[in-house]
Amino acid sequence: MIAIDTEKENKEIAQQYKELLRISYQTLSTADKKLIRTAFDTAVDAHKNQRRKTGEAYIFHPIAVAKIVAEQIGLDATSIAAALLHDVVEDTDYTLEDLERLVGSTVARIVHGLTKISHLKKDKDVSLQAENFRKMLLTLHDDVRVIIIKIADRLHNMTTLDGLAEYKQVKIASETLYIYAPLAHRIGLYNVKTTLEDLGFKYTEPEQYERIKSNIEEDKAFQDAYIESFTTLVHDALDKELSKYEIKGRSKSIFSIHKKMLKQNVPFEQIFDKFAIRIIYDATPAEEKFIAWKIYSILTDHFVPNPTRLRDWITAPKSTGYEALHITVMGPEQKWVEVQIRSERMHEIAERGYAAHYKYKQGEQKEIGIETWLDRLQEVLESNNTDAVDFVQDFKLNLYSKEIFVFTPAGELKSLPKGATALDFAFHVHTEVGIKTRGARVNNKLVPLSYQLKSGDHVDIITSESVKPTANWIDFVITSRARSKIKSSLNEEKKRIAAEGKESLRRKLKHLKVTMDDKCLRYMVRYFKVNATQDLFYKVGVGTLTNKDIKTFAGDYTNTILTFFKKRIRNFQKRTGQVKDAKYLPNYDKLVFGKEKETLAYSLAACCNPIPGDPVFGFVSVGDGIKVHQKECPNAIALNANYAYRIIDARWVDSSAQDYSAKLILTGIDNLGLVNEVTQLISNTMHVNISKISFEAEGGVFEGRISVRVKNKSILEKLVIHLKKLHGIEKVVRD
Ligand code: MN
Repeated sequence: MIAIDTEKENKEIAQQYKELLRISYQTLSTADKKLIRTAFDTAVDAHKNQRRKTGEAYIFHPIAVAKIVAEQIGLDATSIAAALLHDVVEDTDYTLEDLERLVGSTVARIVHGLTKISHLKKDKDVSLQAENFRKMLLTLHDDVRVIIIKIADRLHNMTTLDGLAEYKQVKIASETLYIYAPLAHRIGLYNVKTTLEDLGFKYTEPEQYERIKSNIEEDKAFQDAYIESFTTLVHDALDKELSKYEIKGRSKSIFSIHKKMLKQNVPFEQIFDKFAIRIIYDATPAEEKFIAWKIYSILTDHFVPNPTRLRDWITAPKSTGYEALHITVMGPEQKWVEVQIRSERMHEIAERGYAAHYKYKQGEQKEIGIETWLDRLQEVLESNNTDAVDFVQDFKLNLYSKEIFVFTPAGELKSLPKGATALDFAFHVHTEVGIKTRGARVNNKLVPLSYQLKSGDHVDIITSESVKPTANWIDFVITSRARSKIKSSLNEEKKRIAAEGKESLRRKLKHLKVTMDDKCLRYMVRYFKVNATQDLFYKVGVGTLTNKDIKTFAGDYTNTILTFFKKRIRNFQKRTGQVKDAKYLPNYDKLVFGKEKETLAYSLAACCNPIPGDPVFGFVSVGDGIKVHQKECPNAIALNANYAYRIIDARWVDSSAQDYSAKLILTGIDNLGLVNEVTQLISNTMHVNISKISFEAEGGVFEGRISVRVKNKSILEKLVIHLKKLHGIEKVVRD
């Protein structure tokens, strides 16, 4: 037992609280501080008896999460309060109602969302994880802060994994790489994403992680020297043009270098862009773009630029909200180096993501990354009819692929994932455009719908009112939006055709003097081997079920009903003694097959629909099990003639009178006369038929196998009990 210095601990908690308020990125009002105080006191009280595995008071965890939320992510007081309380409902006696009373309904609702998520994630199964992920995304709809606090929670947990068993570390780390890092990335939390990735990597591939980490450290001196010589070459020119700026080096993260090494299949030494240079300048929003290009101009006066690596994220920000001008130049020592040019505002957005974006949003920007993203996400979720794994795959695909930029005929810029086709573009513009696409023109040339777009393409979609999506369109698109829209349009079309088919089927049957009632439809579903009536109607609608098919069915159906009534009459006659035919005893309710009278799975042939008591035979069909036909079935002769080897004897029996066989295995000590005792007991005392028996003895131990035929289970159970009582028998089990 470790002695805990409560006084010291309380001091530390108070210290942490002050720090939390101090580091908040958002300016906190008096009301904000009051809310945070209440949340803090509640959390301290709720967790007062809990400790983490490390022995530390539990409250340090929610405080740490709140600090990440307040500083690194820069969210509001509501979020800070919710972060402090995030484990309260899950782990303590406090209820949601308590929280609502104490800190209000918004915070309580967010905590509720967080509690829901933590209830979800405890599975090994990938598909379950994916399903949880989907549910997690669904909660975004409630309040995006839920997801952000969850990410902060995960970030802190990742920094305190050391106390856990290794398998748990790996599981949590994998989940982090699979779900949380992409999510953080998509929300624009670049720093958080990088940290999550590096930590995830650290626990999933510790050796690789350590190797790359030490390589980077060794490289540091070279990197510093390089940036120094780069700066020396340009600072005079920059000083002349800029009032305030800073040149920094930025190492790529351990995880991203690892990914590059894998992708290029080269060792660490051969990765060239291990670090980038950042120039961060001070500027008003009005002049920041102009200054970026001024810096570009100065740099390219000194170094040769690589035109294929120019990225202008200022004119067209990434959908995450990222803005910067990226260029790659031939720097000192004839080495390519990437330079990221950003204003302080852009830098803050890049570092902090969402919150900064929100803070700087001045109303004139028509697209805010997070909202666009949420809208898109919502669409995918609502029209989602794929299973969860596909959903995550789609989602991840859309996350990781690089973006391309193309133009509408009006010159508007649209961003799409790399690999997107002309048809994806059509759906991206508008669903109505997508489903009416007849063709596409890219850079004034007619192209197929499956044409893969490239950045800079001008795309013009040709629509027509008469066009409808076809099933092969699914193969032409890669965005989940287009795919789900095509699917739902195809489904609608299918429904429409089925509705038409239903009416036409009703007419056709009526013409054949058959009423389309439930019974008839049930027969039809079986007859044409479809899954449901909808499929039946659809087949009629599209004409796969022809008039001839329907006519054949109607004939058989009428016959079946006739036969059915004939049988009813015959059975009635039997019971009343009018027909004395031993074959047609009632109670014949079960079919058995072959000489062994085995019970096998079967189905009744639709052509003759035998009923219990009919003389029948089984026909072993290819891929559809045993079909039972009447011996008088019109097809019987043909089947017998062509496939005699597939015919199996079948007869109706009274299931209540039927024997079934069971196998018993007996083990025990070999003693003289035991075999005799066993058989005596079974056949003479219990009157049970033995169909097979074998005994083997070795080294004083014997094993007996006995097959018996019994009428029911209770007889068998009684037999087992009696056998166990025999001297020398150790175990009796059913095989
Ligand atoms: Mn937690």
